[in-house]
Amino acid sequence: MGYRRLRAAHLSAARAALEDHVARLAWSHQRIEHYRTERLRALLGFARERSPFHAARMADLDPATATVDDLARLPPMTKQDVQREWDAIVTTPDIDRAGAERVLAQQGWFSYTPTGLQVFSSGGSSGVRGVYIWDWEQFVTLACLAWRWQVRGEHASADSGRSADSAHSAGPAGSAGRPARLAVLEAGEPPHASTPLFDIATGPLTQTFVIPTTAPFDQILRAVADARPTHLVGYASVIGRLARAANAGELEIRPVRVSTNSEPLSAQDRDAIDTAWGVPVHNLWGSTEIGVQAVGCGHRDGDGLHICADEVILERVDAAGRPVAPDEPAARTLATGLAGRTFPFVRYDLGDEITLLPGRCACGSSMPRVADIVGRCDDDFRYGRRTVPASAFRHVLGTDPLISEYQVHQTAGGANVLVVGSPDTTAVATALAFSLRPYGLPDADISVTSVAQIPRHASTGKLKRFIALSG
Ligand SMILES: [Zn+2]
Repeated sequence: MGYRRLRAAHLSAARAALEDHVARLAWSHQRIEHYRTERLRALLGFARERSPFHAARMADLDPATATVDDLARLPPMTKQDVQREWDAIVTTPDIDRAGAERVLAQQGWFSYTPTGLQVFSSGGSSGVRGVYIWDWEQFVTLACLAWRWQVRGEHASADSGRSADSAHSAGPAGSAGRPARLAVLEAGEPPHASTPLFDIATGPLTQTFVIPTTAPFDQILRAVADARPTHLVGYASVIGRLARAANAGELEIRPVRVSTNSEPLSAQDRDAIDTAWGVPVHNLWGSTEIGVQAVGCGHRDGDGLHICADEVILERVDAAGRPVAPDEPAARTLATGLAGRTFPFVRYDLGDEITLLPGRCACGSSMPRVADIVGRCDDDFRYGRRTVPASAFRHVLGTDPLISEYQVHQTAGGANVLVVGSPDTTAVATALAFSLRPYGLPDADISVTSVAQIPRHASTGKLKRFIALSG
């Protein structure tokens, strides 16, 4: 009960802050930069004063005059640093690593600490278990970052609805007066942060329906059909699979807006969503550490995702951590989360590769853009000195209409592939072997097996599609 009351208060705080965040999407480039610089100085100044870890790294930097360019003078932060130095990084005496672990072990449901912190845990794609905390104000900001593009889109469609037909003005859902019903396809339970972040009714009339992705797919399908959603938000692979079910005539819903997150949105899943519903898709790239890094604006001609440049600084760097030019290849992406004051992430190595998109988006926003995140390089398989990108598998498995889900297990000379569906497994194996040839595997040993279900990660509900041979 205590959680529910605090959660309601928290969502009110997020709704109150949303209009400010929507307005920022129309800020000029200069205004974004000015705001970001002051936010950076605030973060660095606070971190230097209250975090021994950051103080030691910032000895030669004056936070009061620091600029984004000065970040390059600080060493990158790795996932291992974060988990090893936890107690030296956290800026509040209210919690330490042991206390955070106690919260995770003792909470029966999501919870708040006495000072309003939330504790989350995530295995992430690297397999290193991480423990993270989000403070009260940080969550408010992250919720706004996750939802402001959708709210902006609803405003726009409500306005155009009014001008086109004033007697038939669109409601808060932007869906011709239907009250909004949001189906939330996320982990559904602790310790993963996805449900608190995405189970958010942005309008007063919005109802939400949480449908855990850990359930068997036929249950998910039924729950989504019963929810009659006007809006969908959830793991990219699950929304993609729902779209394929809709295209096959197994799901009849009429969403007006779709938001995907937590996993890369493949071109095949995006196409399936477009075919099924033909509505704006907001793809989100985030992490438990930073929260939300970039979100798609949903504009039909708006490629890629808009970086949350007012709240996140992304640096593309070489292997030594030095920034590279926008058109040069980068080894890593470092992120600084300006809203995370209680546990500051400064130049944190995200493990994702990004490509910046030039020019301004067709939607008119000055927020800079990155190309769609195609997946972590962690998903690549290494065979001796040869590297096979996950896309070599994805291209075959993600385009076969008879495959609704798959998982690739690397073997010494190829892969064992599990598929849900009824494809011609021999033909799929042949196509995969052919797809791997350009990467130096002339004769890969591929087996393809049809299974009824592929288990999702027990606590996060995520589907790990690529499982590399360890060692
Ligand atoms: Zn845009």
